[in-house]
Amino acid sequence: MLYSQPCKCPVCDWDVPAEIVRLRGSFDCPSCGKALKVHGIHELVMRLIAVALGFLLARRAGFESLLLFGFGLMISPFLVVPVWRLSTVIKRQVLVPASQGVTTLSLGGK
Ligand SMILES: [Zn+2]
Repeated sequence: MLYSQPCKCPVCDWDVPAEIVRLRGSFDCPSCGKALKVHGIHELVMRLIAVALGFLLARRAGFESLLLFGFGLMISPFLVVPVWRLSTVIKRQVLVPASQGVTTLSLGGK
């Protein structure tokens, strides 16, 4: 079994288990309950790798030119999650607060 490294919560510094981390959308920190998400650049990189991998697989399967392009794009969404899961084993993911950029009244004071 591959072991995914836990992520650090940027708010409370708690180790967030990789099992609850989602690539798309936000999730709550089990310690402080703040909404977190994977840094946007990670998601972009994973998508690019998945598309490249899709083309590679299509090429191996014998698809040519336009068919290769179409097939690669078609299967890439299915490759994003496995690629990302593998990357969590190799490297710690950077988490950011999901509410970043959204102003809330509670930020003004106590
Ligand atoms: Zn936290």
